[in-house]
Amino acid sequence: MYTPTETKLCLDVMLGGIVSPLRMIGYDTAYALDRDIEADDAIIELADRENRLLLTRDGEVATRAEPSRLLTETDPQEQLRELSDGGFELALTDPSRCSHCNGGLRRIIDGPGPKKGPDPEAEPVWQCRDCGQFYWIGSHWTHLDERLEEL
Ligand SMILES: [Zn+2]
Repeated sequence: MYTPTETKLCLDVMLGGIVSPLRMIGYDTAYALDRDIEADDAIIELADRENRLLLTRDGEVATRAEPSRLLTETDPQEQLRELSDGGFELALTDPSRCSHCNGGLRRIIDGPGPKKGPDPEAEPVWQCRDCGQFYWIGSHWTHLDERLEEL
């Protein structure tokens, strides 16, 4: 079983559709294009250097990288299903990771919240420690929750 607390991921360029969902679930997820790398060697090296499990749609990369998992589907929802079937825990708890930059989130207890969004004193709001993006349980969240229910 793979869980967000124990598994760090590295996704190749072809898996951009599941970067955001995996971060929302809480996986520490490096994405090749966020790091400006596309070459197979560079992606394998990144995963190895940061002790990340490499998820890839490239069979040759999967053979060369250790550890790695090969995904075969092209549709993001089907890719999530492949991960779920492969023993990855895919469930929403509290927001813990920024879906844009992968930074860690902290709960805003008081003080300035988002300009367009809930009041932190009225409902839970989180902020990315790295890029400052605010998060709350909104439609993105419930939509992903519904998608995960269908797996
Ligand atoms: Zn961020």
